[in-house]
Amino acid sequence: MAKSKPRKGRSPIQDASNLIAAALETLGFDLTDENFNGTPERFVRYLLEYKRNYEVEKVLRIGFTSTHVDNGYKGMLVQSGIPFRTICPHHLLPVLGVCHVGYIPHERVIGLSKLTRVVEAVGHELPRMQETITDLIADILDKHLKAKGVMVVIKADHACMTGRGVKVHDTPTSTSTVRGLFRDVPAVRDEFFQLVRMKMQTGAGSN
Ligand SMILES: [Zn+2]
Repeated sequence: MAKSKPRKGRSPIQDASNLIAAALETLGFDLTDENFNGTPERFVRYLLEYKRNYEVEKVLRIGFTSTHVDNGYKGMLVQSGIPFRTICPHHLLPVLGVCHVGYIPHERVIGLSKLTRVVEAVGHELPRMQETITDLIADILDKHLKAKGVMVVIKADHACMTGRGVKVHDTPTSTSTVRGLFRDVPAVRDEFFQLVRMKMQTGAGSN
């Protein structure tokens, strides 16, 4: 049986842009309005910013090969207020907020900037649920650092809550994952939150 092949454009971006344009026209949007000029392609490129499924491994290779044996520090390392950005898989709308990451080293430490890069990479790898991302960041650090404990907290606003549906503002979603000592020892969790609060009060960097 002869198969009819879909018509191909110059590139996948072009193909996808044509399909989005067709969808918008089907819904009655007038794409001849000059303000829509290039909108389908901009939308496709926006989606692709959150489909960088090679990035996490790349970040990990770079990040964790620079890992070195713990220099004796037995305390907690916390990086708070890391900008967090993804799009939700249900609506493909932005989820924007902050991520706080802490770990207690065992044999390995990594530069704090690598924590920022892991958060950025996981957020841009695929559209995912915030709770899945929170777990995933903890899993990655747990696996590669073999730390005595890992804690990840994300607080984010979901555009699918503020811009559609119930349209409510100022209702950020908070998720947390605790592993090891952070899970087992309440005082360790308290110390984490104290350090996060301290950073927020001093106002250093973004919040
Ligand atoms: Zn959503």
